[in-house]
Amino acid sequence: MDSPASFTGGETYQKDFDPAVYLQTYCSFGSSLCPGNEILELILKTLFKIFISGGLKGDTLIDIGSGPTIYQLLSACENFKEIVASDYTEQNRRELEKWLKKEPGAFDWTPVVKYVCELEGDRERWDEKEEKLRKKVKQVLKCDVSKSNILAPVSLPQADCLLSTLCLEAACKDLNSYHAALKNISSLLKPGGHLVMVTVLKETYYMVGQRRFSCLYLEKESVVEGLRAAGFDVQYVEVTPNSSEGTLADLEAVMSVAACKQPA
Ligand code: SAH
Repeated sequence: MDSPASFTGGETYQKDFDPAVYLQTYCSFGSSLCPGNEILELILKTLFKIFISGGLKGDTLIDIGSGPTIYQLLSACENFKEIVASDYTEQNRRELEKWLKKEPGAFDWTPVVKYVCELEGDRERWDEKEEKLRKKVKQVLKCDVSKSNILAPVSLPQADCLLSTLCLEAACKDLNSYHAALKNISSLLKPGGHLVMVTVLKETYYMVGQRRFSCLYLEKESVVEGLRAAGFDVQYVEVTPNSSEGTLADLEAVMSVAACKQPA
């Protein structure tokens, strides 16, 4: 029964997902040995493009399945007044709170923040950006994308923007539940609001230390189809790397999308 590729659901995350190991593996920056670097840089560049160059703006943004990470909010926080972060597990929410409250032992995001500041044109304003983000994150909530009200028991006014990076493919067992999760998250968004999503394609698992977590095998088409079925108008799609050439060839493909929720 327990084959390596078997689905790792919420309880497994709650029990076995180690935020510190995840951060060290995928979010350490500046150490050339870190395999997550190229993917992280790629995602940061895409988010810079969407939020800063593309000028995606609004009052409220909800980040879904934030995990223990804040990198995904670094460009977004320039353009939104209030941010809500969320995750399934207690330990990930705690890890976020540690950074937000500058508690001892919090992860050092400085190299990542500097990188994003450099993209945005001024590497020196990294501490200002950290403070800005800390002020804008108003809440860190429990969420479960398999529920119709994913933030239950909390209910929030519909947001101007939803962001979700590397979450749904980890949280969903099959395509049906993936498509259902897209509908569930869509209810948090205003009609006309935007969803920005970053997804790993064609991957079946990822490691956090010794622990293997399942990843739903996705192709670009199934993501786009799910978005359309959930009432989104897909406006921007980028898949990198999109060929077998170049230095990123042995990395997973990362798909970034921006989509607009159509009026009901
Ligand atoms: N967004 C972060 C974390 C991705 S790791 C990043 O970009 O690095 C995948 C995350 O999905 C984990 O934090 C895990 O707790 C969360 N997750 C797993 N099942 C979930 C569910 N049912 N609902 C919401 N989040 C879930």
